[in-house]
Amino acid sequence: MQNVDDYLAEILAAIRPLTPRELSLEDADGGVLAEDITAQWPLPPFDNSAMDGYAVRAADLAAATAEHPVTLPVTGEVAAGDTREHQVAPGSCVRIMTGAPIPAGADAVVPVELTDGGIAQVAIREAARPGDSVRRAGGDAVPGDALLAAGIRLGPAALGLLAASGRASVLARPRPRMIVLSTGNELAAPGTPVTRGQIWESNSFMLASAARQAGAVAARQASVPDDPAKVLAVIEDAAGRADLLVTSGGVSMGGEHDVVKAALEKLGTVGFRKVAMQPGMPQGFGMVGAASTPIMTLPGNPVSAYVSFQLFVRPALRALQGKASGHQRTTRAVLTAPLRSPRDKRSFLRGVLADDGTEVTPLSGQASHQLAALARANALIVVPEQVVAMQEGDVAEVICLDD
Ligand code: AMP
Ligand code: MG
Repeated sequence: MQNVDDYLAEILAAIRPLTPRELSLEDADGGVLAEDITAQWPLPPFDNSAMDGYAVRAADLAAATAEHPVTLPVTGEVAAGDTREHQVAPGSCVRIMTGAPIPAGADAVVPVELTDGGIAQVAIREAARPGDSVRRAGGDAVPGDALLAAGIRLGPAALGLLAASGRASVLARPRPRMIVLSTGNELAAPGTPVTRGQIWESNSFMLASAARQAGAVAARQASVPDDPAKVLAVIEDAAGRADLLVTSGGVSMGGEHDVVKAALEKLGTVGFRKVAMQPGMPQGFGMVGAASTPIMTLPGNPVSAYVSFQLFVRPALRALQGKASGHQRTTRAVLTAPLRSPRDKRSFLRGVLADDGTEVTPLSGQASHQLAALARANALIVVPEQVVAMQEGDVAEVICLDD
């Protein structure tokens, strides 16, 4: 049996990061930036108003108070997007909207709230200092400033910043494309009738969701019956459309019914092994197809498949984007109940971590088909290989599932 860490290390050593491509900002969403971004233009590009109000010369308002407002003639109006040249002559002002360029001669903006809101002339109740409510050109960034560093994941603010600095595309590693394929004669699509001996297929929905949560573009393949030739044909077709293939089912130790094993074993490029863990012992990893697409064959029991995803597939997806393995967040918490664990296997028990993160409660229903208990869990309690029992009050390592 292979140790969990060795198996993960083997996967990570074999995965090559996707080649960075020039991607439109929309396609780059969720990708990993592959260039350093430097400001080419000042941000903002010109002095502009932070408020709706009046562009003034601050010196004209030195005497303004609530009791003795200063009244100025309003000689024009400038809104955001106005490209004309406006001028504020001494002793006058121009009505101005947020984002509009500051007219020549003006050095401050008085918010409309400090005035009577007049159109032809305006009474201003407060003095202003030069620069008040003016957003300076370059106040956010000046040309040459480092804006974003290669290696970051492109999210909302980064994409906003790229657009604001005039970039329409960027060099990035795209989100990996993952295709999920389930196998089993017993599987029926949810929403269709099941007869005795059949179950509704669930792993592909669960694994595709987990992949999306991990930043991948995930697609489900209709489940394939236990026929090695059919399974191989679907795998080879999907390999051309994916950066990572994930199968579930058909890899246990049961011999002729292990269809994924039967289909892939003769290619000689996928290694099947037992990993010293519970749930999720039977695992396979290798490369398939003309482009040597990585494939991970997960066991079919839903909880086994899910735990295998978190331990091996998630880090593999990150590796495809050139990111370090980055497990889910882990913490340590006090057990509220005793638990047992098999000797020589690392086990991952479903649990509920308290909101404050101090205590963790193992759930009942720890068998690898018990999806209802998995759905109640927000944590996996990790029990090391050599530990066979833990007591209430012991401190356990916990993998957080909901972040
Ligand atoms: P296998 O690994 O194919 O021997 O399957 C182990 C168990 O997981 C069996 O009880 C299967 O019915 C179940 N199983 C396999 N694939 C799926 C799936 N896609 N959705 C739900 N259950 C599955
Ligand atoms: Mg099966």
